[in-house]
Amino acid sequence: MAYVFDPPPVPALAVVGGGLYPVRRIFCVGRNYAAHAAEMGGEVDREAPWYFTKSAHALCPSGARIAMPSGTEECHYEIEFVVALGGEGQGIGREAALELGFGYGSGIDLTRRDLQAAAKASRRPWDTGKDFDKAAIIGPITPKSAFGSIGSQTIWLDHNGARAQQGGLNEMVWTVDEIIAHLSTLYHLRPGDLIMTGTPSGVGPVAKGSRLFGGIDGLAPVSVTIRGD
Ligand code: MN
Repeated sequence: MAYVFDPPPVPALAVVGGGLYPVRRIFCVGRNYAAHAAEMGGEVDREAPWYFTKSAHALCPSGARIAMPSGTEECHYEIEFVVALGGEGQGIGREAALELGFGYGSGIDLTRRDLQAAAKASRRPWDTGKDFDKAAIIGPITPKSAFGSIGSQTIWLDHNGARAQQGGLNEMVWTVDEIIAHLSTLYHLRPGDLIMTGTPSGVGPVAKGSRLFGGIDGLAPVSVTIRGD
């Protein structure tokens, strides 16, 4: 049986050193840096990590020039450390969790903050605030062996050339092995699954003409420009 229209291309990211990483799902960790939780008027807890998702079709390649996202008066940037899985499994123990990783990348979680805030206030889902066209801007994936251990690497984002966000990966409330282990109790994880691991403080709104440039020490940077038209 033939498809009734051409299936969409498989969303994919460049891999540092060559090749394409096909993306399956995008999980995002909520409130994973205490300073960002505080600036959003919340606080972290150590009960369990929690998640929202973005469609793989919300991916946007790094370096793009994109239109101002529609339907929002307050679209925020959030720089994030991205984990790209290359293995599969469910109920993975913490000690084996990092073995599921293929590599890491620098990502920007674009957020329609006004829609997210309205959803929070009315106890409705966050989807339109978080999952929209070009809302997941992710740079090339660096294989984990080339990055080494996740430690105190700096994570940062410049907005129009000025430092807006800066933190350390060691500030994450939930470590990457804890996140993978916990997420694997909820989902059968597979190659192509991405995890955006939350943002440090300093998030803020973009405007027409905004230039975002950010990264994590040891990884390829991520950038995007909001067009002026
Ligand atoms: Mn985020």
